[in-house]
Amino acid sequence: AKADGRNTLHFFNKAMQNEVNQRSRVEAALRQAIDHDQLELHVQPLVDSQACVTGMEALLRWQHPELGRLSPADFIPLAESSDLIVLLGDWVLRQACRLLADWAGDPAMARLSLAVNISPRQFRHPDFVGRLRQSLQHSGADPTRLELEITESLLIDDIEQTIARMAQLQQLGLRFSLDDFGTGYASLGYLKRLPLNQLKIDQSFVQDLLTDPNDEAIVGAIIALGRSLDLRVIAEGVETAEQAERLRQLGCTAFQGYWFGKPASADHWRQWLAQSDG
Ligand code: C2E
Ligand code: CA
Ligand code: CA
Ligand code: CA
Repeated sequence: AKADGRNTLHFFNKAMQNEVNQRSRVEAALRQAIDHDQLELHVQPLVDSQACVTGMEALLRWQHPELGRLSPADFIPLAESSDLIVLLGDWVLRQACRLLADWAGDPAMARLSLAVNISPRQFRHPDFVGRLRQSLQHSGADPTRLELEITESLLIDDIEQTIARMAQLQQLGLRFSLDDFGTGYASLGYLKRLPLNQLKIDQSFVQDLLTDPNDEAIVGAIIALGRSLDLRVIAEGVETAEQAERLRQLGCTAFQGYWFGKPASADHWRQWLAQSDG
C-alpha cells in the first residue's frame, strides 16, 4: 500500500466522502423524523425497595419508515456531534413535559417523576434554561416531577458554569441524577458541590455483580458514597431476582431494569399501573 500512495489517498478520500455522505443522510433523516412524527418516548419504571413504581425514565425511540425501530445508541452519538442534539433534546423535553402534564390528571400516574436524559452539548446551549422553562409553562407540567439525568462528562470542564446552571434549574424545582456513575471521570470532590439528588450506578457494574468481586466492591462503595453525601442511589440494568437481592443486601433501595419492567409506551405503563393499583 505504501508504494501506491496515490491510490491509497484516493481510497481514503472516497471512504471519507462516503462517511460524510452517510452522516448527512442520517442527519437529514433525523430532521425529518422530528418533523414527521417518527419519534416516540418510551418509559421505563424506577422502583423502590418494595418494587413500587416511583417514577419513569424517558427513552427515545425512532420509528424509521424503512429501517424499523432504531435504538438511541444508533443515532444519539451522531446527533451529539452537531447541534442536532439540541433540536432533538428540545423535542424530548417538550414531549416529556406534555406527558407529565397528562399524568397529573391520572391518579395512577400523578405521583410519578419523569427522568429525561440530557446531553452535555444540549445542557450547555445558551438557550437551554429558557427553552425548558417555556416547555414547562406551555404544558403546565409540575417542575418538581421532572428529573434531569446528566453524566460525568458534563463535569470535566466548565464546572463552575455547570454548577451555576444546575442551581438555576434547581430553583425552578427540577431534580438531578448523575447517570452511568462510575464510568466517567468525575472528581469526587465536585460531587458534594453539585445540587444532585441521585446517583445511578452504571449497569456495567450490575451486570457482573454476582461473579466479579471487583464490581461488587464498586457497587458497595457507590452506595456508601451516596449515603454519606445524602444522595439516593439507584441501580440500573437489574435483570434478575438474584441481582436485585444482592443489591438489597448491599444497601441499595432503588432499582431499574428488565427484572422490574422494560421500556414501553407510556400508555402501556399507564394501563398496567391502573390495573395493578400502584
Ligand atoms: P441510559 O440513559 O443509560 O439508559 C439505560 C439504557 O439501558 C436504555 O437503553 C434502556 O433501555 C437499557 N436498559 C434498561 N434496563 C435494562 C436491563 O435490565 N438490561 C439491559 N441490558 N439494558 C437495560 P436505550 O433505551 O437503548 O438507550 C441507550 C442510551 O441512549 C441511554 O442510556 C441514553 O444515554 C441515550 N438516550 C436515550 N434516550 C435519550 C434522550 O432522549 N436523550 C439523550 N440525550 N440520550 C438518550
Ligand atoms: Ca439515563
Ligand atoms: Ca445509565
Ligand atoms: Ca448509558
